[in-house]
Amino acid sequence: MKMYHEPQPLEKYLGTELDCDCGRRHYVPIRAVEIGPGVLNTLPDYVKRFQYRKPYILCDEITWKIAGQRCADLLQAAGIDACSHILQHTAFDEATLGEIVVSVPTDADLMIGVGTGSITDMTRYSSFRLGLPCFTVATGAPMDGFAASIGIMNVGGLKRTMQAHSTELIIGDTDILKNAPFRMTVAGFGDLIGKLTCLNDWKLSRIINGEHYCAPIVELVQTCLARVMEKAPRIAERDPEVLGSVMEGLVLSGAAISLYGSSRPASGAEHHMSHFWEVVNEQRGTPGAMHGEQVAVGTVLVLMLAEELCRTPVDFDAARLAAERFDKPAWEREIRRCYGSAAREALDIEAQAQKNAVPGRLIRIDRMQQHWDEILQQLASLPEADSLRRLLRQVGCPSLPREIGIDEALLRDTFRYAKETRARYTLLQLVFDLGLTDALTDRVIERLRRIDTEMQEE
Ligand SMILES: [Zn+2]
Ligand SMILES: [Zn+2]
Repeated sequence: MKMYHEPQPLEKYLGTELDCDCGRRHYVPIRAVEIGPGVLNTLPDYVKRFQYRKPYILCDEITWKIAGQRCADLLQAAGIDACSHILQHTAFDEATLGEIVVSVPTDADLMIGVGTGSITDMTRYSSFRLGLPCFTVATGAPMDGFAASIGIMNVGGLKRTMQAHSTELIIGDTDILKNAPFRMTVAGFGDLIGKLTCLNDWKLSRIINGEHYCAPIVELVQTCLARVMEKAPRIAERDPEVLGSVMEGLVLSGAAISLYGSSRPASGAEHHMSHFWEVVNEQRGTPGAMHGEQVAVGTVLVLMLAEELCRTPVDFDAARLAAERFDKPAWEREIRRCYGSAAREALDIEAQAQKNAVPGRLIRIDRMQQHWDEILQQLASLPEADSLRRLLRQVGCPSLPREIGIDEALLRDTFRYAKETRARYTLLQLVFDLGLTDALTDRVIERLRRIDTEMQEE
């Protein structure tokens, strides 16, 4: 089938190969998504329709009470021979995986993960390793991982991204989601908000690097984001309809990753900031904010950076000079200081991607000079940092670095080195290429100080 030019309802993208004008074939392996009030009741129908006989339900003590037991009851009432397991090892590490392998019956033919990120990730990963298909029943929607084909788990004490597979069915019952901790819902909204800046990164890279780009996917994510932002002020009322659209947005954003075959449509500079703070927190042994909260703050920071850049006259010759003077040994020392035990990975990424190397930088500076008006136009199409900040505040989501424990020193490191968490091109790299990182960071910090003073006066 041909890829749709206009954004369609989510179900139109599921389980269908779509040939796109971008030159790629897009495919989401998820077979069905049910979002709305009371949709948990559809679970037995799907088990029967997909012809499974012996589902194994995976929960922890909390999600068992929220939805796990109901899943078991519904399946039993429908005459399905299901079994359930309540996890005791909840560090989501090797021990959890071992517990699952020991407890899963040999004749189980389906795993149903009931929970949020950790349990559903673990379900996708363990079912993948056991050669079983899986379903997802969401008890909260704090991030966009439901539709992912990877799973995050702790291996050897470190958070690792593991190859897994996609779930076949996602159930987001808004009667259940409305009772999820409010902070979780708000974090889910924060993760969605990040699409504003990540799509901007993709568009910039298309202009500057000629990076491959898929207009229908960008359109799809943008449309969904606009819908959610319009309803956002009602999140605080726990309006099930709004919670449903946040959940749908998160599933769709994950589906966009599947469609495109990489996280380009869902993760840019705002996510690199969140990854960087995770690394720093791990070094310091301090618990960080939730992923979606970090992404929300990252999005505001990236928007501020874009605004400061638009206000700055750019001297491309000075940028070339700065590129030629790049001090690699000093940079490596800084990476070791910021990344600690994770420095090796960041250095390996750079060794591969060579994004700080002088020749590539000079080429990009030329491209920027040629297309500067177009770049400014793209940056000007972004929403205002201040209005997004106010919206986040209204919703109850952190929007400022200090609200999630980021001080000015860490903020400076963030603008300089968060881009080293991934090879992907973002606005952070653009600003670095122009030699403007420190100057623009100063201005963002100035601005944040003014906001703090204003808030104290309020
Ligand atoms: Zn995310
Ligand atoms: Zn495409």
